[in-house]
Amino acid sequence: MDVLSEAPGATLSQLLAPKVLLYHDITQGGRVDARDARRRFSAQLDWMGARGLRLASLDDWIEGRLGPRDVVVTFDDALRSFLEIALPALEERRAPSVLFAVAQFSGRPDAARVFLTWDELRDCRARSVHVACHARTHVPLDEVPADRMRQEVSASTRRFVEEGLPQVVFAYPFGRYNDGVKAALIENGYRVAVTVMKGGADRLEVRRRLLTGSEGPAALGLMLSDSFFGIREGARRLVPRRFLKQEQPIAFERWGAHGFGLPDTED
Ligand SMILES: [Zn+2]
Repeated sequence: MDVLSEAPGATLSQLLAPKVLLYHDITQGGRVDARDARRRFSAQLDWMGARGLRLASLDDWIEGRLGPRDVVVTFDDALRSFLEIALPALEERRAPSVLFAVAQFSGRPDAARVFLTWDELRDCRARSVHVACHARTHVPLDEVPADRMRQEVSASTRRFVEEGLPQVVFAYPFGRYNDGVKAALIENGYRVAVTVMKGGADRLEVRRRLLTGSEGPAALGLMLSDSFFGIREGARRLVPRRFLKQEQPIAFERWGAHGFGLPDTED
């Protein structure tokens, strides 16, 4: 049976919501070589296409034109493997995507071997990619003092606009937010914000399904299955947070694997 049509246990809002996928570095910090990473990621896109899922654009998403068979592909952290490996595979299939970049990292020449530069982000925008904001320094916004949190949101938004990249959608670093963070996003004109694996019907709490890009058809089918996703989320709520570390984005560890510490600096 097609796992996509099997959805006992899923709520109505889950069934009607578009499926938003979250990728980071599809080479997984270099553990998968570039050719394999592209092949596996391409196979995922083709698998979705063969099952009648449509890879949808951010505009359709923002305007509420998405249905349950629409998939939005997002990438966090604007790592080099997006431009070099994932984007060609997406373009080959005329598939749009959303790329979330960290403002400070894209402006640092010493970070350019890991993160895309502003010029490269503009190049992505001129192609099929909506480039969106992932805060200023990638701190957990629900943990830092409120002043710092607001500055993270407003300074990064301003920087993106100055770089010619207007903003309507925001990705919370580590998927973490609270009511104060949501209020800051509204003040800065955001219409949609995305989390990781949690979230609800609120457009500022859109959950995403975390993928490495290497999952085969069975694992990908499970991750796209609303019943599995619903059950998994329910289970998460029963498990103490410390046991869920492996499901947090692995951004900092991965950057560490690149030998890149990224201390905060003043802009
Ligand atoms: Zn991130």
